Amino acid sequence: MKPKYTSLRGVRDILPDELKNWRRIEDRAREIFRRYNYREIETPIIEPAEMFIRTVGEETDIVRKEMYIFKDRGERLVALRPEGTAPVVRAFLENNLYVPGRVAKFYYIGDMFRYDRPQAGRQREFHQIGVEALGESSYVLDVEVIMLLLEFFEELGLVDAVLLLNSVGCPRCRLEYSKSLREFFSPYVDELCEDCNARLENNPLRILDCKVERCKKVIAKVPSILDYLCDDCRIHFENVRSVLDSLGIRYVLDTRLVRGLDYYTKTTFEVTVPGLGLSIGGGGRYDGLIKDLGGPDLPGIGFAIGMERLVNLLRDRGLLVEEEEVPDYFIIYDATLVTKAIILSKLLRNRGFIVEMSYMAKNLKSQLKEADRSKAKKSVIMREELLANNRVILKDMITGEQEEIELDKLEVSLIGERV
Ligand SMILES: [Zn+2]
Ligand SMILES: [Zn+2]
Repeated sequence: MKPKYTSLRGVRDILPDELKNWRRIEDRAREIFRRYNYREIETPIIEPAEMFIRTVGEETDIVRKEMYIFKDRGERLVALRPEGTAPVVRAFLENNLYVPGRVAKFYYIGDMFRYDRPQAGRQREFHQIGVEALGESSYVLDVEVIMLLLEFFEELGLVDAVLLLNSVGCPRCRLEYSKSLREFFSPYVDELCEDCNARLENNPLRILDCKVERCKKVIAKVPSILDYLCDDCRIHFENVRSVLDSLGIRYVLDTRLVRGLDYYTKTTFEVTVPGLGLSIGGGGRYDGLIKDLGGPDLPGIGFAIGMERLVNLLRDRGLLVEEEEVPDYFIIYDATLVTKAIILSKLLRNRGFIVEMSYMAKNLKSQLKEADRSKAKKSVIMREELLANNRVILKDMITGEQEEIELDKLEVSLIGERV
């Protein structure tokens, strides 16, 4: 039967078996974040569009072609959030969560929206787990945030996760770098795509994350941003690297890792696994973002993990729990015992068991079939003549064995019980 409506392109249902794994991953994230003293925050899915245009950047793919943007009924320009950092910073400022001298640490779990071409691991509605640490400029925080991200993947069993590391400098050193990028790219204008030609004028750094094949060829030869870092940015990055080295945390320097958003400064990073060709998480510093959103001149750093890709990867690796949860008991009963059957199911549920029951007074045989279909481990069969003596039949649905037992054996008593 063809349904009358189907979901929109690029969005999808997350079905119970899969969702159970999602929740398990999220629980793991919550537990690890808690140990690092991050607190959960939830921001609205809709925000002023202007906020993202300004912070993510006008020349980014996100703002140019991927953001869901519309006028609401009050003629306000609204966007479905394409990323989680700007909203958290907005909430931090709007709710006066800044305490001088204290790092504000938040994490979020939620869906984001980008009007991208749907493909494996890339949906228009996608889910992210992210952290943001606001108010501290020390490289020690960079290291901690990177450790946190790696620890999360490690605890999920991704022991071969690879850290890619770069620094994108600050606006000061980026000015120099942009100048040299313009020089570098100017002989190649005919080879660059139309978007990149516009970027060459306005924001040449963005050329580095162009996905067009012929642009990628040119990009492979660009000068390294690391050669253009100012003293402050260079020392910061050296410190990050030296502590990672001392800790034995391996990383690959990727000098073209600029991330697809304009607000990043200094340290940027991504995590992938060999052979995947996609990042499963990444982030970086954004030392100008809080000020950009009208707040004090405070630094910040964070990362986001892409749930869809992560779940796909864990599934490919056999790291998801595929086992279906089935009822512990299925209650079968004579038609006259319906109230008692309901009470018994409630008592067993109160004790923490998963209980299913037949809902129609069918004969014993068809109820047993129902019990089979439910995949219950055991059936409790309530017959009038037995229950008069406080007894039921307990049937093991796997072995087929059955025995007559006292109700007490289930550690419940129907005597004097009311729903
Ligand atoms: Zn700098
Ligand atoms: Zn291009």
